[in-house]
Amino acid sequence: TIGMLALDSKGNLSGACTTSGMAFKLHGRVGDSPLIGAGLYIDNEVGGATSTGVGEEIIRNVGSFLVVELMRQGYTPEDACKEAVMRIIKKKPDTAKKIQVGFLALNKKGEYGAYAIQSGFSYAVCTAEKDDLLIPGKSYY
Ligand code: ASP
Repeated sequence: TIGMLALDSKGNLSGACTTSGMAFKLHGRVGDSPLIGAGLYIDNEVGGATSTGVGEEIIRNVGSFLVVELMRQGYTPEDACKEAVMRIIKKKPDTAKKIQVGFLALNKKGEYGAYAIQSGFSYAVCTAEKDDLLIPGKSYY
C-alpha cells in the first residue's frame, strides 16, 4: 500500500491510499485500503492515519480509525500507531510473528509518527522546508 497524509497551510488534513492487494489473493477479495476506517481514516479535528500490510488484520481492528481515536485521547502519532500494532500482536501473537502491519499517522499540529510489526518499514516526510526526509519507522520485531 502507498498511503499519504497531508496537512495544508490552512490546517486542513487529507489523505489517500492505493494498493495492488496481496499476492495470491482470492478473486473478489477486498483489502483494507478501500475501506475507510481500515486502510485510511481522516478526522479534520484530530488527525489522519493510513496502513500497510495484511489487510485482514487491519480490518479486524479497524486500524486507521483506531489510530485516529487514540490521537483524540492524547496519544502522540507514534504511540497511537504502536498501540494499534500491539492490539494485533496481543490478539494473534503467533500470526503477528509472520506478518507485516504498519501504521502511519499525522495529527492536526503536524506531528507524525509510524510503527510496524516487522522492521524495514520507512516513510518519507515533505515539508515546506525539506522534501527528502526518509525516516525509518520503529517496529516491534
Ligand atoms: N494492505 C493491502 C491489502 O491487504 C496490502 C498492501 O500493503 O499493499 O490489500
